[in-house]
Amino acid sequence: MSEGEHRFPFEAEPAEIGLGTEFVTTVRVDAVIEKRVHQILLRATVRSAATFECDRCLDAFTRDLEASYAILYVTEAHPEETQDGGPEVQVISPDTNMIDLDEDVRQYLVLAIPPKLLCSSGCKGLCPSCGANRNRVACSCRNESDDSRWDALREISGN
Ligand SMILES: [Zn+2]
Ligand SMILES: [Zn+2]
Repeated sequence: MSEGEHRFPFEAEPAEIGLGTEFVTTVRVDAVIEKRVHQILLRATVRSAATFECDRCLDAFTRDLEASYAILYVTEAHPEETQDGGPEVQVISPDTNMIDLDEDVRQYLVLAIPPKLLCSSGCKGLCPSCGANRNRVACSCRNESDDSRWDALREISGN
């Protein structure tokens, strides 16, 4: 590979790179490699989609996932290359002519999963009394959370 920037998009099926069955679409990786003397800088954007269970209403929904990351591959570790806010540094053997991206792609996609999984930001969840999915049915239970005080709180928190 010559020095300079090289762009190489590629695709992989989720199972091929060790992702679970919740990942439902082909993983697309858009990678740009910048080759320098004794260093390779990789910048990648990875995309897929996965199916989750909503934390509030327990319905299954599919969420697009995207992550961007940068890794600096070096043939020898120099501490000064590890800067705060800089790319992650990985040491590769000087005679490596292929970098295996699968593990990083897998990890960054898993990290892209939001900690709070909601089918929509306005999900009304399940009724605590009768268990009805309040996105679909309006049950007649009266619950604490239907109190207007909570509506005011919801507006403040933007949920
Ligand atoms: Zn929901
Ligand atoms: Zn109810």
